[in-house]
Amino acid sequence: MKSLYFDKELTLREVPMPTRAPGEALIKVLMAGICGTDREILKGYSAFRGIPGHEFVGRVVECEDPKWMGKRVVGEINIACGHCSWCARGLGRHCPTRTVMGIVNRPGAFAEYVALPEANLYAVPDLVTDQAAVFTEPLAAACEILEQLTISPGTRVAVIGDGRLGLLVAQVLKQAGAEVTLIGRHGSKMNLAKTWGIHVFNDGTQEFAASSFPLTVDATGSPGGLSEALRLVEPRGTVVMKSTFHGAANFDATKLVVDEVTLLGSRCGLFAPALDLLKLRRVTVQPLITKTFPLNQGLEAFEYLNQNSALKVLLDMR
Ligand SMILES: [Zn+2]
Ligand SMILES: [Zn+2]
Repeated sequence: MKSLYFDKELTLREVPMPTRAPGEALIKVLMAGICGTDREILKGYSAFRGIPGHEFVGRVVECEDPKWMGKRVVGEINIACGHCSWCARGLGRHCPTRTVMGIVNRPGAFAEYVALPEANLYAVPDLVTDQAAVFTEPLAAACEILEQLTISPGTRVAVIGDGRLGLLVAQVLKQAGAEVTLIGRHGSKMNLAKTWGIHVFNDGTQEFAASSFPLTVDATGSPGGLSEALRLVEPRGTVVMKSTFHGAANFDATKLVVDEVTLLGSRCGLFAPALDLLKLRRVTVQPLITKTFPLNQGLEAFEYLNQNSALKVLLDMR
């Protein structure tokens, strides 16, 4: 089958079909999304070698439990052992021996087919298009904040970073009742957020006043985002860290202590709430798709993402 394969560099490569382990389904990938994590993998994040890609929608073509046959599905990306104490607590996303599709020791979805445990699958409601379903995984990551924190109505939140993740996080917090300010640098992206009733602030030319928000979220995907999130948070406030990047962050640890700030790491989330938001159209994802490429132009798709104006780029394997 055709795939994008990373081994020191990304290439378009013919590889053997995935082998389906017991309990797994073989899925024909329909569409896949490229995210910041994939671009970090190309820089060395998680020392991954193989087929990247963890945001996808597909159709089951082989399975153990016949109920999945032919179903359009998305898949939770963490493959847990199923029997350790973390798995017993329903926290397979933190299972110490987990693999993560396209990120840690497991082939991903930038290919014609991918295998995944049936336990990881979620059927996609008919109302949700392939294009929208691809956003389930990043939207689940945005929803994770709501699993970790209680947002009281009217809570003022700053989301730093007007990229793909920032725009999803801002929408998720807004529909949860927060009063959201998106802080970014791209006019077109912030105009989009404005149409959703989100306040916007361009920090390209001026600085937002320090210690202005009880809750700030770094969704910049870069090391500088955390120090800005920390600068903007009030004493006793919380900074949510949503960025994964290759390298170390630089921030003022003194402010953390003096202002008694809580730093909250936040990664993958549950798929069910994300699919609900898509089904009920409580978040808008269609305008986030900048361009779609066929799989055999996958290298061009990655190249295209170097443009600052690009939001989500999809690969189409249909
Ligand atoms: Zn991702
Ligand atoms: Zn486990």
